[in-house]
Amino acid sequence: MGNIVAKFGGSSLCDAGQFRKVRNILAMDARRIFIVPSAPGRRFDKDDKVTDLLYAMHRQHRDGGDWQATFQRVAERYLSIARELALKTDLEEQLNRIRLDVENGADEDYCASRGEYLNGLLLSDYLGFTLIDPKDYIFFTAQGTFDSERTNTALSRRLEGAPNAVVPGFYGSLPDGRIHTFTRGGSDVTGAIVARAAGAELYENWTDVSGFLMADPRIVKDALPIQNITYRELRELSYMGATVLHEDSVFPVHRAGIPTNIRNTNHPEHCGTLITHQAESRDGNHVISGIAGRVGFSIISIEKAMMNSEKGFGKRVLQAVEEAGLSFEHLPTGIDTLCVVLETSQLAPVREHVISRIMELTAPDTLTIHDDLGLIATVGRGMVHNPGTAARLFTALSREHVNVRMIDQGSSELSILVGVDASDFEASIRAIYHEFVQ
Ligand code: ASP
Repeated sequence: MGNIVAKFGGSSLCDAGQFRKVRNILAMDARRIFIVPSAPGRRFDKDDKVTDLLYAMHRQHRDGGDWQATFQRVAERYLSIARELALKTDLEEQLNRIRLDVENGADEDYCASRGEYLNGLLLSDYLGFTLIDPKDYIFFTAQGTFDSERTNTALSRRLEGAPNAVVPGFYGSLPDGRIHTFTRGGSDVTGAIVARAAGAELYENWTDVSGFLMADPRIVKDALPIQNITYRELRELSYMGATVLHEDSVFPVHRAGIPTNIRNTNHPEHCGTLITHQAESRDGNHVISGIAGRVGFSIISIEKAMMNSEKGFGKRVLQAVEEAGLSFEHLPTGIDTLCVVLETSQLAPVREHVISRIMELTAPDTLTIHDDLGLIATVGRGMVHNPGTAARLFTALSREHVNVRMIDQGSSELSILVGVDASDFEASIRAIYHEFVQ
């Protein structure tokens, strides 16, 4: 029988009631044997996440503030879960040890990691699963980058033949044994690492939404969920701002050919979004998979007659961009024009310098900068097989009287990118959605 790695996010494990839901979910499929928990998240709107409290506690200790009170608030979260579920773990002893460590100046990563550690401890007790502390199996280099191969060797050996395990998310250790964390939201990454090491048939990521939506629900009311998407499509969408998963959690499972399923702990009957390596056919009749976008871009447009035959023109433009320490987002080109799309916030402090440097290096006929731009990516593996997709998209935009400032269709034909004035941004997303979805 294959195994499933199930990662549960902070809201899925925020109190005893959520722990019960998790146990019920595991009981529904015996293949769910490797569990990766986050630290307890918010129970209600204005509540604090335990991880945020732990970071605050570390700062307070460092700055001579009242860290003990914050520690007590953290402790209470775990004590109430343990009490309500009648767990046997000696939590007081664990908490005392952590309190002592903080008193003795434990560093930030150690403090933050205790959120996952303690939740893993309680969950393993509640489920009757073995606790595997990631400090012994998830490794970083001395520079703090994740050491994927060393980790995979050690962790797969540990998981081999293990009947079950709880592996707390978010942290591992440095070569000198100190605790080191991933960036925020990093339990997603741990889940993907465990899935790869376990040779899982599926990586389930349980959260509080029923998968990805085809568009931002703040812009498109009642946007439909995406049932099936490929890792490459997902990359295009998350690059443009759609976030549900930590970016680094895609790589380990994608490379190992393991699908990821985003599921909702509060609605386990919903099949969520399945992310696969390759999807044969499209589900439903939508040509597109999703739409995502961001505002806050500027376009530098450089025009020069016969630019196409001038050797090294593009290189000199990019040299000016690089010298200013900027990274560009897109580079649409025409016969006599070249545009560089950048984030306005990055450009602002060096704007004058970049302009004069481009002028100096390329002597263009004209150079203009257009600010307040929104970029919208319409993504879908089905677009390539559907002639006329671009025509439909631009017709939908022109019906809304949207002035399209830039078009870029990547050679992958997985997405069409348009640049519009920020004031047209939301209307454009709605127009595209209604054209292709409903
Ligand atoms: N607890 C950590 C955070 O809040 C990691 C995670 O939840 O994935 O960022």
